[in-house]
Amino acid sequence: MTTWHSDTCGCIIDFDDDQILPNGRFKVRKVIQQCPDHSTPDISGHDDLYDTSLGDNQRKNVLLGKMLEAHPELADINEAGGKVLKKDIDYIHSYTGKGKNRVLEVEFAGPNFVFAKKHKDKIKEISDTEFGAGKVVVK
Ligand SMILES: [Zn+2]
Repeated sequence: MTTWHSDTCGCIIDFDDDQILPNGRFKVRKVIQQCPDHSTPDISGHDDLYDTSLGDNQRKNVLLGKMLEAHPELADINEAGGKVLKKDIDYIHSYTGKGKNRVLEVEFAGPNFVFAKKHKDKIKEISDTEFGAGKVVVK
């Protein structure tokens, strides 16, 4: 069993890591904390809560990963050879909305970095492809 703490909301969920559901998520054993933003009638049951909370959380991680691939000027290479966001650039993200309709708001900012139209266009392109229209807004 593993306990998952979302870093984008207050949800804390215990799941079975040897039981995978048809949607690819692990089976929830126990909800320890259900955050206010995910305490809505459109979320039915613990597995749906986990799917929704984890999906929101992964959206900001997937978007960052794809942005680092698309725009090398955002990235440094770490010791393992992976791409990480440059230290002096911030990936600022927050969510609006509730339940299954939360919208991710993002921007990149830094003292020596210009958040340009090409970055904003790429965010929209990645988001529309990966998550569907309207799931991510550029600040
Ligand atoms: Zn939550």
